[in-house]
Amino acid sequence: MPSNQQRSQRADQPAAASGSAVADAPQPTPELAAFIAGQPKAELHVHHVGSASPRIVAELAERHPGVVPTDPDKLAEFYTFRDFAHFVELYLATVDLIRTQEDVRLLTYEVAKDMAAQQIRYAELTCTPYTSVLRGVPIEGYIEAIEDARVAAERDLGLTLRWIFDIPGEIGPNAADETVRIALDHGPDALVGFGLGGPEIGTSRPKFKPAFDRARAAGLHSVPHSGESTGPQSIWDAIEALGAERIGHGTSATQDPELLRYLADHDIALEVCPTSNVATRVVDDYAGHPLAAMVAAGVTVTINSDDPPMFGTTLNREYGIAASLLGLDAAGVAGLARAAVHASFMDDAGKRALTAEIDAHLATNT
Ligand SMILES: [Zn+2]
Repeated sequence: MPSNQQRSQRADQPAAASGSAVADAPQPTPELAAFIAGQPKAELHVHHVGSASPRIVAELAERHPGVVPTDPDKLAEFYTFRDFAHFVELYLATVDLIRTQEDVRLLTYEVAKDMAAQQIRYAELTCTPYTSVLRGVPIEGYIEAIEDARVAAERDLGLTLRWIFDIPGEIGPNAADETVRIALDHGPDALVGFGLGGPEIGTSRPKFKPAFDRARAAGLHSVPHSGESTGPQSIWDAIEALGAERIGHGTSATQDPELLRYLADHDIALEVCPTSNVATRVVDDYAGHPLAAMVAAGVTVTINSDDPPMFGTTLNREYGIAASLLGLDAAGVAGLARAAVHASFMDDAGKRALTAEIDAHLATNT
């Protein structure tokens, strides 16, 4: 998810061809791509608004005519990934289309459909209720909308959704207080985690300790972003101050061998999103991504899509990229899928059931 600070920091960087860098992804063989497409999966790091595909945005844009085109050709052009600034433009235009409870419900259910079509069986979807409340959606209506979509997705699509409510870090302490208040006063049973997004530079993780203390005391799992655009110290901070149980991105972890050992020893998984990292220039290109070094250090790595349509990707594409970077075959891909189940906040029965599905897919397709 973008942030005001990242926007301004990145705006004055020399123009790099990040659009073509994203397009230049390593690809698996067609056979492995087909295996991945059929692979039952869990996704742990994916944003609600950031998952709005052109199809969904077109529906919202028809309800709220304005800057976003509804003509399919123009919309396709609007959605063609160019660079980080374009991603921010897309993200903000989409945020502006979510104005009512019914918009929230439509977005959530349609995102679930796109997930189910990729054989995603379980997802922990990061929502930022503060942003919608700020735009006038009453919190009760917001919760009702996401819950209604969650129940329908489980019934119609066989997709289990769980929620992570995250603080838009760039807004500061008010957003932290309000997000934890929303989580504690209004959080449904399907709320499992508490997160922190937005810029890392200038928003040190320990500043958010009071909000995380309250959320954790209420039983929510701690899953802040850290080490995406900042160094390994922010990952240590996320662990020590915020009690992080998984790390959103954690790209800079490989700069600190002691940290890698700690992550491996304590089974703190990294939520890796390769295309997002290339698109936002956290890494120069796919070949320079530290994914292989994370795996070599014995850290649990999960593969995720972050804001998929806005970065011109899908979870299946991210699995294909990871398989290429790691030199994996079908059994290796199944291992990545199992790691996401392992690192999820599903109960043991749910983990066993989805792991069995993954094993069955491997057994019948190799
Ligand atoms: Zn994210």
